[in-house]
Amino acid sequence: MKRSFEAIVVGAGPAGSAAALEMAKGGVDVALLERGNFPGEKNMFGGMLHKMPSLEEHFDEYWNQAPLERHVSKKATIFMTNDAHVNVCMDWEDFDKPPYNGYTVFRPRWDNWLAEEAVKAGATLINRCTVEDLILKNGKVVGVKTLRDNGEIYAPVVVSAEGVLSFLADKMGMRKKFNPSKMAVGCKCLLDMPKQMIDDRFGLVRDQGVAYEYVGVSMGVRGGVALYTNRDSVSVNMVCHIGSLGKSGITLYDMMNNYLEQPQMKKLLNGAKLAEYSAHAIPEGGYEMIPQLVADGFLITGDAAAFCNATGINLEGINMATHSGILAGKAVIAAKKNKDYSKGSLDLYRKLIQDSYVYKDLKTFKRAPGLLHDDRIFQKYPDFALDMIKKIYHITGEPKKNMTMLVLDHVLNNGKVSLMDLISTVWTAWRAL
Ligand SMILES: Cc1cc2nc3c(=O)[nH]c(=O)nc-3n(C[C@H](O)[C@H](O)[C@H](O)COP(=O)(O)OP(=O)(O)OC[C@H]3O[C@@H](n4cnc5c(N)ncnc54)[C@H](O)[C@@H]3O)c2cc1C
Repeated sequence: MKRSFEAIVVGAGPAGSAAALEMAKGGVDVALLERGNFPGEKNMFGGMLHKMPSLEEHFDEYWNQAPLERHVSKKATIFMTNDAHVNVCMDWEDFDKPPYNGYTVFRPRWDNWLAEEAVKAGATLINRCTVEDLILKNGKVVGVKTLRDNGEIYAPVVVSAEGVLSFLADKMGMRKKFNPSKMAVGCKCLLDMPKQMIDDRFGLVRDQGVAYEYVGVSMGVRGGVALYTNRDSVSVNMVCHIGSLGKSGITLYDMMNNYLEQPQMKKLLNGAKLAEYSAHAIPEGGYEMIPQLVADGFLITGDAAAFCNATGINLEGINMATHSGILAGKAVIAAKKNKDYSKGSLDLYRKLIQDSYVYKDLKTFKRAPGLLHDDRIFQKYPDFALDMIKKIYHITGEPKKNMTMLVLDHVLNNGKVSLMDLISTVWTAWRAL
């Protein structure tokens, strides 16, 4: 095995493969190290891949080349109680046309495809290669120690793309200690369902797909569930805050089973067969969680840098990871040209990030993680919304109240949601979103 490269990337997820692709195309001799048997083997997500303009620079119509499942033409937010749901659905013709707004994918296929593209461009992919430490000389990173025999590999710059747990950033003292309230855990249940059944049940044709986000029925835990249609399977993906889950004493599988037993969900999934379960952590702290990004000979990208935007409306991680990987690649190419891998030279990466939508979006929505700590959103408001809507549509033979009276009647007499609750949440949401 070759032991010396011009750059090393740790982790062949979206951030790592994008970094390696960019560097290889820019003439850098780069090693892409992945602990799994192949890129994507260990990876999972919800998942909707959001449109990625940065990939369009590398691939002509990548939606025609990459292993995509369906393009997402229908997106809905659904408020759910134990016996009802209300669906606010957006079905937009624009989302049904190339380049499309998002796709469903399977990570083992998608990640493997992107890594193979990096290899085609000249990167050296080394699978089954777990990095356990960095090699430092005079305070500068000059390589990595892997779990292989004689596993040292050297390069003047190492890019961390190892994902959420970011052990290397921790070893370098570049990130804060994890706070359970800023971390989420996601658990996915993949259910096989024939394509025709999915098309009929969700009102789809051709390769159209849906992304449905649900609020409610979370058993008092801060979290929600999302449903995505693949070609011939459906992903039910639950995400909840680790701190809140820990305090509740409820298990992930209890929560998941509770969602699957909800009557409207049950109707959608009737006849589907469980294919697999998987789980993974998510950095949900947003802007406040971004670590120091650059050190001498070292850069941090993707989830390891907390580049994941969880506003409660969208979960954007893959697009941010990919974009940050590409920007890290650009900084390494410039460092090679200048023969300077110092922190000062690699600081170009920090500047590129700060100029990009990745940083700007996380900054714009920096209060969104706080909004997701409002327990009323998960526990009280779905019941409130469904109760109001039921009263609007329910025919009783009694004279109807107008909307203002209905809301006032509810907040004054029902007791579950007060006027102060509503004012405080609307104010927090206004500032966060
Ligand atoms: C349940 C869930 C649902 C999600 N839903 C969505 C969604 O719908 N849309 C979206 O855009 N994002 C979603 N995300 C977020 C998204 O998955 C991440 O933001 C994205 O995967 C981050 O990419 P990454 O390359 O930084 O890290 P990862 O994808 O985690 O990749 C890290 C890679 O590094 C490898 N690795 C780790 N440690 C080492 C080591 N020591 N040595 C060698 N290799 C190593 C891993 O095997 C892996 O291949 C979701 C995440 C979860 C968990």
